[in-house]
Amino acid sequence: MLWTALRIVLALGAAIVIYLIGAAIVRHFKVAPPAEPDPDDLEPVAVEFECVVCGTRVTMTATQRQGELEAPRHCREDMVAVVGEPGG
Ligand SMILES: [Zn+2]
Repeated sequence: MLWTALRIVLALGAAIVIYLIGAAIVRHFKVAPPAEPDPDDLEPVAVEFECVVCGTRVTMTATQRQGELEAPRHCREDMVAVVGEPGG
């Protein structure tokens, strides 16, 4: 009788531990979304980037820090800024 009660307590304890571990893992994967960008921090830019792999071109119209313009990625590669002629 005592053994049965002990087994029940152990099973409950194990269930709680497994639940806590699972909840911690799930919490680890849940990443809070970044804060909304403040429109006042955006500076207008007009930089065209080209994908070195497939040739896709995009135009960046606004950025947060113009001094540290970071190239977007396409085809898993950093895009390169195009200093081409407009409309060409
Ligand atoms: Zn690409």
